[in-house]
Amino acid sequence: MAFLELHNVSKGYGPPSHRYEVLRDVNLTIEENEFVAVIGFSGSGKSTLVSLLAGLEQPDAGEVRMKGKVVTEPGPQRGIMFQNYSLLPWLSVYQNIEIAVKQVFPEMKKPQRREYIQQYIDMVTLTNSEWKLPAELSGGMRQRLSLARTLAMKPEVLILDEPLSALDALTRAVLQDEIIRIWEEDKRTVVMITNDVDEAALMADRIVPLTPGPSATLERAFPVTLDRPRDRTTLNFNPDFKKLRNAVSTFMMDLNEEAKSLRVETTYKLPDLEPADLSKIG
Ligand code: ADP
Ligand code: MG
Repeated sequence: MAFLELHNVSKGYGPPSHRYEVLRDVNLTIEENEFVAVIGFSGSGKSTLVSLLAGLEQPDAGEVRMKGKVVTEPGPQRGIMFQNYSLLPWLSVYQNIEIAVKQVFPEMKKPQRREYIQQYIDMVTLTNSEWKLPAELSGGMRQRLSLARTLAMKPEVLILDEPLSALDALTRAVLQDEIIRIWEEDKRTVVMITNDVDEAALMADRIVPLTPGPSATLERAFPVTLDRPRDRTTLNFNPDFKKLRNAVSTFMMDLNEEAKSLRVETTYKLPDLEPADLSKIG
């Protein structure tokens, strides 16, 4: 049985008269402990897909299933890390994690909880920043806090919506390694949304491209067969990595060209000109 599954899922917004169909007939099967990267252009429906997987939104048609059960609401077994941190600004680093831990493990006693939270703070190297407020943290630190909070809830599935997109290249690389390390150490299922082919190839077991919207859908998947642990410094010289990166990039660019021409046809109609009129436009 598939661990997490999207079955013929469609989702749109707006009233029937001018409905915007974001996703159409999306199918995806994710195995337990698999690391899947969904890659797509901005506005194609990636966050919508995340909301559906998390149970924050319901599909118009089709089903999202986890371990065979239809997902109808959010639950602690599916932990999400959003694009925009979603931290509580009036709570410190420690308290932002604590509030989540209390919710998921209400029976945990205070001394044990303190140790537990500290372990996650150390894991994302926020040690000594425990009492800072989110406003006092850099973007990278906020993202790390967000990751620590999600991990501390021990979700069976980690759903990461462009977790690293707002970061500078160096911090991004550090956090990529961190996420892989945590995933390798403490196996769990990961769905990561990204717009970066290299990031997907470095981290995932499988790369699934989302076509540009409207009516976006998941295309054929690219398996990533590179050995683990993957070393980013040598990967750039690995012929299999280069081949995969080229294949995915070319595929994405072709999709984009196709989508552009479709959009021109449907939304932008050239005026009908008589041959004589051509002189008017030089
Ligand atoms: P991505 O994460 O790939 O950038 P989103 O899933 O956020 O894309 O959005 C896909 C499309 O759906 C966009 O055109 C966006 O404007 C639209 N959309 C997303 N959420 C809503 C909503 N709650 N109401 C109306 N339209 C929405
Ligand atoms: Mg998004």
